[in-house]
Amino acid sequence: MEDILSRAKKAAEEENEAMKTCYFCQGKVVNKRIRHVHHWGDEIVIFENAPAEVCTQCGEVYLSPEMLEMMDKVTLERTPPDKSIAVPVFSLP
Ligand SMILES: [Zn+2]
Repeated sequence: MEDILSRAKKAAEEENEAMKTCYFCQGKVVNKRIRHVHHWGDEIVIFENAPAEVCTQCGEVYLSPEMLEMMDKVTLERTPPDKSIAVPVFSLP
């Protein structure tokens, strides 16, 4: 658990060195820790302190392939989370 998380984080941080401008608006992209809401079918998994690149202009978030892979793996394998929160759902008629 610890392992796969820190490996993805390391790979993400290394990759973040390469990309500097936003694909969509050519704005400046900076390294940030974000709270990423990962959707997997009907499931929602939240990753806190996820390293990502975020455009300072349009807010587009870039996640590395390693991060995405780790998120899918952790979700699929139902790795025990650090904590769980209840998420309210409102269904519109
Ligand atoms: Zn942008």
